[in-house]
Amino acid sequence: MLKTMSEINVKLGLKNVLTRIEEASKKRSPEFQGKTPQLVAVTKTKPVEMIIEAYNAGQRHFGENYVNELVEKANNKDILEKCKDIKWHFIGNLQTNKINKVLPLPNLYMIETIDDEKLAAKVNTNWPKYGNPDTKLNVMVQVNTSAEEAKNGTPPSNVVELSRFVLENCPNLRLHGLMTIGLFGYDLSNGPNPDFILLKQCRDKVCQELNIGTKDLELSMGMSDDFEHAIELGSTNIRVGSSIFGVRETKT
Ligand SMILES: *Cc1c(COP(=O)(O)O)cnc(C)c1O
Repeated sequence: MLKTMSEINVKLGLKNVLTRIEEASKKRSPEFQGKTPQLVAVTKTKPVEMIIEAYNAGQRHFGENYVNELVEKANNKDILEKCKDIKWHFIGNLQTNKINKVLPLPNLYMIETIDDEKLAAKVNTNWPKYGNPDTKLNVMVQVNTSAEEAKNGTPPSNVVELSRFVLENCPNLRLHGLMTIGLFGYDLSNGPNPDFILLKQCRDKVCQELNIGTKDLELSMGMSDDFEHAIELGSTNIRVGSSIFGVRETKT
């Protein structure tokens, strides 16, 4: 049976995940040591009260993957009042006709799902209309590392070109990193997750070709089932929902 909200202790769930992040960070090979991976708490389908609870426990970065849900939550009166320093990551598929719903949102911090040039160009053009003109909007290039037709993301063969486009043609955007979702349910007894290895290879290639330090381009990979493994393979930004907030009632 699914746990009801009152049975889920968000504070404890958060604490457990942070401890596991710390443990996994220690196991990284020397090349990945340094920065503690950032936890993005994914709150899709979860109520505002849980967001506030996690915020009060110290969490600042939150992720949503549906435009309408993010619009509702980012504008929620209680969140605006009680979570003044919240940082929203948009982690879902962004259609170009929805850009103008997302860009004006209070406390929008990052769009992790830039997956083609048209989208990048449009976000770049529109950001100054809404954002602070002195700040660039953080973006990540989403990569379809598993080559699944149903998944969004640019193919690995196009990551350098798309990253170059953002760097050279999108002065209002800041290229923060690369992101992948990857194959669901990968069995770790088959060895390291190939999606994570591929994303790191894409990062190394982008850094080499565009003359960026590898520490200056982050990797967003790893969710509830595999974030520790992702950290060991170099992830610096993990997106975790159900391990903190409980199982979602609807499949998303
Ligand atoms: C839902 C979601 C997550 C979090 O998934 P959990 O398995 O609940 O941790 C991470 N990333 C994306 C893009 C998601 O849509």
